[in-house]
Amino acid sequence: MKLRLPFLILLLTLVMNTFTAAQSPEEFARVWDETHISSKPASDVRLADLKVYLEKLRGMGVKIQEVGRSYGNREIYQAEWGTGPLRILMWSQMHGDEPTATSALVDMLAFLQTNQEKIEWVKKLHESITLRVVPMLNPDGAEVYQRRNLQWIDINRDAQDLKTPEGLLLKQLRDEFVPDIGFNLHNQQELTLVGRSFDQATISLLAVSGRKDNSSYPGFEKNKRICSLIIQALGKFIPGHIARYDDSYNAQAFGDNISAWGSPVILIETGGYHGKDELFLIRLNFVAFLTALQSLVDGSWENADPAIYESLPFNSSGRVFNLIFRNAEVMIPSTPEKTFTADIGINRERRRAQFIAPVYVREIGDLSAYKGLEEIDVSAYYVVPKEGLLRPGTLGSFLFYKKSRTVEWGSENLEKDFPPDGVYVFGKWLKPLE
Ligand SMILES: [Zn+2]
Repeated sequence: MKLRLPFLILLLTLVMNTFTAAQSPEEFARVWDETHISSKPASDVRLADLKVYLEKLRGMGVKIQEVGRSYGNREIYQAEWGTGPLRILMWSQMHGDEPTATSALVDMLAFLQTNQEKIEWVKKLHESITLRVVPMLNPDGAEVYQRRNLQWIDINRDAQDLKTPEGLLLKQLRDEFVPDIGFNLHNQQELTLVGRSFDQATISLLAVSGRKDNSSYPGFEKNKRICSLIIQALGKFIPGHIARYDDSYNAQAFGDNISAWGSPVILIETGGYHGKDELFLIRLNFVAFLTALQSLVDGSWENADPAIYESLPFNSSGRVFNLIFRNAEVMIPSTPEKTFTADIGINRERRRAQFIAPVYVREIGDLSAYKGLEEIDVSAYYVVPKEGLLRPGTLGSFLFYKKSRTVEWGSENLEKDFPPDGVYVFGKWLKPLE
């Protein structure tokens, strides 16, 4: 049988498409599930763990180099991938307790390296861009899980002063490379919300102009379009949970300065998503990074609608708690005749996944204008603060007694003599309510 020419062309087109077709956000997510090399919650990763990841990448053929030392003399590394003219610089964990992107960058590099001969767009990307990645710019902060470096300076307020070795290094790396685009990667408080809604801002984005008046220029406009594509991609996983980061100009911050120095920056802030763990957040970052990179090589950023980014609601905060006990009849055992009914808002501190996070009372009273990521109606119980007092700042640990019970509140050892019907300590139910 003779094959007709139109059929051949059709066949050829189909074959070509399988090699050149863009990968969807869902495919990126699936690829992450199957291939990621980060192996623990991002918050548990210290420099020693990062070194293990980087050794793996080096073994795969990624160029890894120590480029400097922190104030505490810890190594700071830079990875390089690609040989093309478009220069991209991505850095993470300038704030030591903001770890998500570090793991995602490692997984991204592993994906790019593995597929630079296998997937057509990655191959093209390798020829089109030179990508430099600084994962964990603040290894001292990461070691003790604090925002600042070991001089107790916030590196992100040191872009002009350059008194921190980490900030100075970032400036030097920027100046010698002169990237066309920078990615500044952070975490924000998990209780950050989208606009006036009660939805957590799981990802917040900002195309940083670097100009006080936010006036337009090509690199800035390009980044807005890339942000729009990231929003569309992540919308498949977290619809309604994406916001715009507050874009007020900060003369001491790196995002603004690096943009002003000629490398317009995209800021990505990772927040929280109630009920999902840190791996979910790493995966979102992975999808965001690859979506951005793919758009640069297939040119899809040019067709993206900047209005998708521009119309995104801004971040807001202060209207949600990790937990609200509703209608608590507060019983202070030393003054049992003075009970009162109030809502109690409780928040969890930011800690590594491997540690128990302390929880503190943050608000007491009528919290009807607020929401809790979790809310429990406790109107059937007397609620006894374990510390014996209830104020903003006291530990969020409570004993619960059914109102139908007779309890001698003044008894020497209340918890032992009258075993409570519920015990909530360190953010956990040691004895759950029925
Ligand atoms: Zn930060």
